[in-house]
Amino acid sequence: MEYKPKEIKEEVNISKIHPLANLTYLLGTVIGVSAAVYIALGFAVNLVVPHVPEETEKAIGDASIASAYVILEGEPIENDPRLSHLQELLDSLQESEDKIPLTLHLLKSEIVNAAAISGGHVLVTTSFLDEVKSENELAFVLAHELGHLKHRDGLRGLGRALVINVGWSLIFGTAGGDSGVVGTVLNLSDLNYSRSQESAADLYGLKAVIRHYGHGGHSLDLFKRLQKEETKFKISEYFHSHPLSENRIKKLEEIAEKNGWDMKGEKTALPGVFSK
Ligand SMILES: [Zn+2]
Repeated sequence: MEYKPKEIKEEVNISKIHPLANLTYLLGTVIGVSAAVYIALGFAVNLVVPHVPEETEKAIGDASIASAYVILEGEPIENDPRLSHLQELLDSLQESEDKIPLTLHLLKSEIVNAAAISGGHVLVTTSFLDEVKSENELAFVLAHELGHLKHRDGLRGLGRALVINVGWSLIFGTAGGDSGVVGTVLNLSDLNYSRSQESAADLYGLKAVIRHYGHGGHSLDLFKRLQKEETKFKISEYFHSHPLSENRIKKLEEIAEKNGWDMKGEKTALPGVFSK
């Protein structure tokens, strides 16, 4: 039998599918899988957060406090007479059965803001204190920040980085990445919470103030005033990290009315050291 070499087609190694279609398919798969992992990690955040030990949360917060100073453009003040009053007021707003150690930081800063960092850190700026006219409104802002700490919003803000970190430590027995990386993520997110986190912190804040004073009167005065001045750049800093709309105040007043909470009690003056 005569040997007939098989005719070799030039495109033998080339897929019949157009190369671009192939690439699109490959890219689509990669993007699809990445998106699924990303979404799954997002869901995992809420599962992981309640199980993060308090010491880990504190270590993460402590590692990022210096960056929080930078973000608030502030220098910590150690010898201000207002500091002990602020710490005392903050401590008194906690429920007695569920206390966590709290550290109040007073920052000399032009920025009007208050913030909470994981591990029990609450930061207020001197410019923020300049806007405060009664203890009730100061208490509400401190209690709002306390709400973020109680709800562990800082950890939630870490989000996917936290899940990857915890997953890594479960698999390899050590914390994945260094706390510096975690700290960076924390600082980008910790001062910008979601609207639902803000509402939850507001509700915690109002309840805490009512527990403390027996009423919620004057606790929202500062918000109402700041809202009117929202166009001023200086003031808008607070709303950048705590988006405030008329809805937020209205929502709190509606909740108070529905629950029959007293929102008309007397104003408590700030201690003398607060007056300029
Ligand atoms: Zn907030």
